[in-house]
Amino acid sequence: MFHVKHHVRLSDYNRGMNTQLKHLSLESFENLIVEAGLPRFRSDQILSWVYGKNVSSYDEMTNLPKIMRKQLAELVPLTKPTIIDKQVSVDGSRKYLIQFDDGALVETVGLPNDDGRLSVCVSSQSGCAMNCAFCATGRNGLNRSLYPGEIVDQVHIVQNDFDKRVTNVVVMGQGEPFANYDNTLAALRILNHPKFLNIGARHITISTCGLIAGINKLAQEPEQFTLAVSLHSAIQETRDSIMPGVSKQPLDELHEALADYTKRTGRRFSFEFALMDGINTSVREIEALYQYGKDLLCHVNLIPLNEVESSPFKPVTRKVLLLWQESLEMQGIACSIRNSRGSDIAGACGQLASKHFNS
Ligand code: SAH
Repeated sequence: MFHVKHHVRLSDYNRGMNTQLKHLSLESFENLIVEAGLPRFRSDQILSWVYGKNVSSYDEMTNLPKIMRKQLAELVPLTKPTIIDKQVSVDGSRKYLIQFDDGALVETVGLPNDDGRLSVCVSSQSGCAMNCAFCATGRNGLNRSLYPGEIVDQVHIVQNDFDKRVTNVVVMGQGEPFANYDNTLAALRILNHPKFLNIGARHITISTCGLIAGINKLAQEPEQFTLAVSLHSAIQETRDSIMPGVSKQPLDELHEALADYTKRTGRRFSFEFALMDGINTSVREIEALYQYGKDLLCHVNLIPLNEVESSPFKPVTRKVLLLWQESLEMQGIACSIRNSRGSDIAGACGQLASKHFNS
């Protein structure tokens, strides 16, 4: 008996249900190609063009037969974002306003370093639902979550514009990555993949406002992505007032999840703590932070608050930041003060909501 292999013609497959390539994880794309009756190696070829060479049309994929390029363009359309605006800071960082095919906007920042590194701050969502009182992004609410390829696009845009390899990625732009867990992880895997951008997992940091389920999930992933948690206060009442979106993720449960994270992974994580004058700067606050951090394998990043237009939250002086750093270190808590870069172009943390988002 011979089996006649039934070839599904690409053009017949999934007609009318075209999913964009950038909406898919690597595995989902590979599955789609195989289900469409194409050999698996075609998936590798296509993904290398898209994520390795950043081409934005099937026509450029010269190792695919012409007819296949045409059919693929219908079956799994390939789109490319547009740079709507770009601003360059006096410190060399560049902020981009990027628009996806449905009109969704995000901001991305490229941060070159004196030692030759190039970091990119990517957004995981267009807008954000978490509503942190001191953050500009939260003011306009959530538009939508980004797809894996859209997160990767932001890194390619910066890499091309600087004409330099991106060495580090921080998911600290707009949005809450753990509210878009699967797409964010799928994007980080593309960035990390040796055939594509080959950015080391330890050089990729995910920053969360503290969604416990996300921390628990990340602890089980095989890659060593770095975790950062926005704490901003170790007193429940203060935290609830400035971060209302996580009031249902209490500090004691967060602490437990973080202890567990380190137990599972053996890895250090960092706390982000933006000092806001008169809000989280009392002696009680720093004492609560010692208590909270002392038995965790953590590093505290003190962040000078970036002023957001018409916001009541104000930064503290450099002197106060240094005092906090010294006190934390005396208590045995590793601590650094983060450079605030790009603040002149509103490219710094929490400022990523330009006039474009208010229109
Ligand atoms: N949603 C994630 C990641 C995006 S925000 C999170 O909350 O971690 C990235 C960082 O910028 C967070 O630590 C956030 O609390 C901080 N941030 C927001 N607004 C800020 C501001 N005005 N000044 C300084 N940091 C700010």
